[in-house]
Amino acid sequence: MKKEILERIENIIDTNSFVLGEDVKKFEENFANYCEVGYGVGVSSGTGALKLALGALGVGFRDEVIIPANTFIATAEAVSHVGATPVFVDIDPKTHLIDHTKIAEQITEKTKAIIPVHLFGQMADMDEILDIAKENNLFVVEDASQAHGAEYKGKRAGSLGDVGCFSFYPGKNIGAFGEAGICVTNSKEIAEGIQLLRNHGVTEKYVHALIGCNDKMHSIQAAVLDVKLKHLDTWNELRKNAAALYKKHLADNSNVTMIQTGKDRTNVYHVLVIECDDRDAVQKKLGEAEVGTNIHYPIPIHLQEAYAHLGFKKGDYPNTEKASQRILSLPMFPEISDEEVTRVCDVLNSITK
Ligand SMILES: *Cc1c(COP(=O)(O)O)cnc(C)c1O
Repeated sequence: MKKEILERIENIIDTNSFVLGEDVKKFEENFANYCEVGYGVGVSSGTGALKLALGALGVGFRDEVIIPANTFIATAEAVSHVGATPVFVDIDPKTHLIDHTKIAEQITEKTKAIIPVHLFGQMADMDEILDIAKENNLFVVEDASQAHGAEYKGKRAGSLGDVGCFSFYPGKNIGAFGEAGICVTNSKEIAEGIQLLRNHGVTEKYVHALIGCNDKMHSIQAAVLDVKLKHLDTWNELRKNAAALYKKHLADNSNVTMIQTGKDRTNVYHVLVIECDDRDAVQKKLGEAEVGTNIHYPIPIHLQEAYAHLGFKKGDYPNTEKASQRILSLPMFPEISDEEVTRVCDVLNSITK
């Protein structure tokens, strides 16, 4: 893709259009089409996307927003950045997604929105979550930063809630050459609200309708993403193939469990997470065999120092806490070869079986 990308970047240099502009417009349209929604608003990051989505929906000071206890901290930070309080809900131990049966008990008169996180590559239980939201008059903001192209009952991630938020951090299923994100929505009004907020509340030059942010998308990132978008489905297929091979090689190992994919949905395997006993020892031995691994995530948000003011303690979210001790992310990227997957599994089986 290098040649095609360089041509697009050269054009940006020649036209001196570095922020927003034609490249951003084009990518917004193409990504919205990809998600099968009406509008895309390019922003500075996934965290920015979540923050602006909440802001455009009017979520703010003294409000509460329900999020899963197991997610990247950005989901909680976005809630905090608009002045609201994140309210955590434990995960389903099989899928590691938000446990929809535990959402209702966390709803108060302050609750304004639910952010289901489509973690590790699969969408949350959207039917149940949308029902709860409708009954309680809550907004739904999808955190789809790990699920570009994932589907639930044939509908694309980002298309089911009021707003879908994506990150294009370089390590995501489609990554920019730096930081970028996008909000997608079917509501013209919400899209316009996010456009205002990303750019200082500007309605015309130096006229500001509201107090906004500087969260605009860079043209170079949009151009890179526009070139890469054409390959996203292929890359996701390659990830699925690699996951199927992992599943086959690990099937006979009763000491290793793969995270289950829920019913009626696809999984684009942003990361390939397994559970095992003695995780730290297993990770160390894999490292000695030159197999790189990661942990998503080792410390749940409610136990992070950053959120100490909320007063949570160990034991408050047992499924999330147990998972954080047992999970391990194995090598996963579109170009991983069958031989590489097989070798990782051989090493893992020899350590754990
Ligand atoms: C990556 C990620 C984000 C944040 O995206 P940035 O672009 O890094 O700001 C938010 N939520 C989840 C679940 C993520 O994985």
